[in-house]
Amino acid sequence: MYPERYRHNPLYPTDSDFKIIKRDQITGLGVITKRSFETGDVVAALAGEVTTELTQHSLEIEPGLHLLDMHFAGFFLHSCHPNVCLDMPNRLVYALRPIAPNDYLLMDYGQTESVLFKQLECQCGSDNCRGWITGHAEGPNVELVEYQAFLQKQNVLA
Ligand SMILES: [Zn+2]
Repeated sequence: MYPERYRHNPLYPTDSDFKIIKRDQITGLGVITKRSFETGDVVAALAGEVTTELTQHSLEIEPGLHLLDMHFAGFFLHSCHPNVCLDMPNRLVYALRPIAPNDYLLMDYGQTESVLFKQLECQCGSDNCRGWITGHAEGPNVELVEYQAFLQKQNVLA
């Protein structure tokens, strides 16, 4: 999935194991696996451009340093009940629980990101859904306040 100019690594994701597909209009692109993984398995090694710029698809390596991977991990979807976690210093993705073919790879954006490019309403549907996606070092922004006011109004009308 990565361009040939990246140094070869047998753990890099391949087209035979993964596919980037459009899930829906709201969440956009996501990555599905075509094979299964057990808890603790290395799912893939990551590569990309290291940049100081925070962007929508970048992943934080450490504060102020980001990996822009527009071939694979940049398209992982968020879940509050993720099935993968990312070891950014070592550029590895691990399975947190068993993953079956055709499952989306789901990460918790708050695991890697201290601050998000854009905070989002979460519709992951898990029992422990936080409802709003933020980085781990930031509080909810003004949009959450507006969002809660919106929900309150919906409840009043219901
Ligand atoms: Zn959620």
